[in-house]
Amino acid sequence: MEELEQLFACRQCGFCCHGETTVSLDAADQQRMIDYLQLSRDEVARRYWRISGSVVQMRIVDHHCVFYNNGCSIYHGRPWRCAQWPLVPALLLDEANYQAISESCPGITRELSYRHFCTILRRVLARKPSREEHR
Ligand code: SF4
Ligand code: SF4
Repeated sequence: MEELEQLFACRQCGFCCHGETTVSLDAADQQRMIDYLQLSRDEVARRYWRISGSVVQMRIVDHHCVFYNNGCSIYHGRPWRCAQWPLVPALLLDEANYQAISESCPGITRELSYRHFCTILRRVLARKPSREEHR
């Protein structure tokens, strides 16, 4: 079994795509989304983005991300933070983070001790240092 699979297997529950908040899109996220959707920047912004000053986020519709439709409808064009989730570096910082994130994401294994989980996660993150490779 791959090390990543020892830590996490998405259950497709959609929990992380629901709620009234969403992730912010950096410039690379915005361009990837534009390329994926093959629309103009203005059109993507009009249909899918919520812009507040310099902050660009995906719109929330009916309490979920605008792209959620029984799964991510923009999977290969999704923001890097979505691609990284839930294996975020914050898991390594504090067991309370691990508890909170694993309670909200049923895909995280509960079978490993926190210490063992972190040992594997450190190796996984070390192999995937850039945003690109999380996609
Ligand atoms: S909360 Fe976790 S298991 Fe559920 S869809 Fe999101 S990543 Fe997958
Ligand atoms: S872009 Fe996809 S993975 Fe990210 S919150 Fe929206 S539906 Fe979920």
